[in-house]
Amino acid sequence: MSEEIEKNLKRCSRCALCLKNCPIYNIKKDENQTPRGLIIKILGFLNGNLEKKQIIKDLKICLNCSRCKANCPSKVDTSLIFAYKNAQLAPSKISQRLFLKLKLLPLSIVYFLNLFKKNKKIEPKHKDILYFKGCVAKNQHKITFLDNLFYNPDFSCCALPYLTGGDIKNYKKAKERNIELIKKAKYVVFDCASCYSAVLEYEELNENEKKKLIFISDIFDDMVLELKQNSKYKGKKVTFHKPCHMIQKDFEKIENMLNSIKDINYISAKDDSCCGFGGSYFLFHPIISTKIALKKARVIKDSQADLILTACPSCTMGLRYNQIISFNFKKTLELRDFMSQEIALDDFKGIR
Ligand code: SF4
Ligand code: SF4
Repeated sequence: MSEEIEKNLKRCSRCALCLKNCPIYNIKKDENQTPRGLIIKILGFLNGNLEKKQIIKDLKICLNCSRCKANCPSKVDTSLIFAYKNAQLAPSKISQRLFLKLKLLPLSIVYFLNLFKKNKKIEPKHKDILYFKGCVAKNQHKITFLDNLFYNPDFSCCALPYLTGGDIKNYKKAKERNIELIKKAKYVVFDCASCYSAVLEYEELNENEKKKLIFISDIFDDMVLELKQNSKYKGKKVTFHKPCHMIQKDFEKIENMLNSIKDINYISAKDDSCCGFGGSYFLFHPIISTKIALKKARVIKDSQADLILTACPSCTMGLRYNQIISFNFKKTLELRDFMSQEIALDDFKGIR
């Protein structure tokens, strides 16, 4: 891995094209905390010119949004560099597995009663196609159209929280079960952009195995959809927040799909800025997180949307927080839940 990191560090041409997309730089305007600045500082440390303590604070402030990686013309894998250096220079003192469980505990309590609800046994239409149900969705115990279509074998966490939290041991462990399941599957369908991008990054999967991983937008490709007869969103304005980890082509497919829905007025957001929440980032950097959230809140308010959709549970929480700080209380839903509750999918087969 260090060879891979070294290659990526050397690939940076210092062009600075990543700066304008970095939510931290846009708030702090400090070159030390830009993708380019972090790379120069890491190289300085590796060459013996900087001490560990001169980098850690700046590395820890990174939101791990991957926007720099997505916008780098030299294809520098900044996410990999920052996550591994973070883990090596300041390894997590607590197990991120335990931390994730603690973070999900309030959800389990809120949905406590659902634990005792007897869900009817599901016989999915496609048993050989797997559904990667993320940690939050699992803890909500909700059954959606995805459970009815695809088999849910109870995947492990996508491992992104372990990697960004500096817990490489649990990162490797969480990947093992997922890799085993993916290798045996025909396809694996994801509904969370962050889980999807994390699994696509598993270096243990070859290109053919990665082709089996598909996003929710792929199963609605080129379809014209309709709202259910009794949907409360008829004639309403709907917008979609693009999670930082969402691949642009998936976003475009989602926009096409939402544009195809009769009876809703889909409004494309004016910019695709970060919601600021960043998983547990909000807990450790509440001021920076809130400053980023305020910018996003203005974009959402200007859209005048009645309903805000997204495809990442961390963003859903971030968007709800945005509404509290901007006094703009609108319904926010996961795309999966919107499709399940509001779209007429009676004859939908899932994959054609
Ligand atoms: S990380 Fe990429 S975009 Fe940023 S300065 Fe280096 S080469 Fe340019
Ligand atoms: S991952 Fe996001 S916050 Fe971190 S340096 Fe890159 S763009 Fe900035």
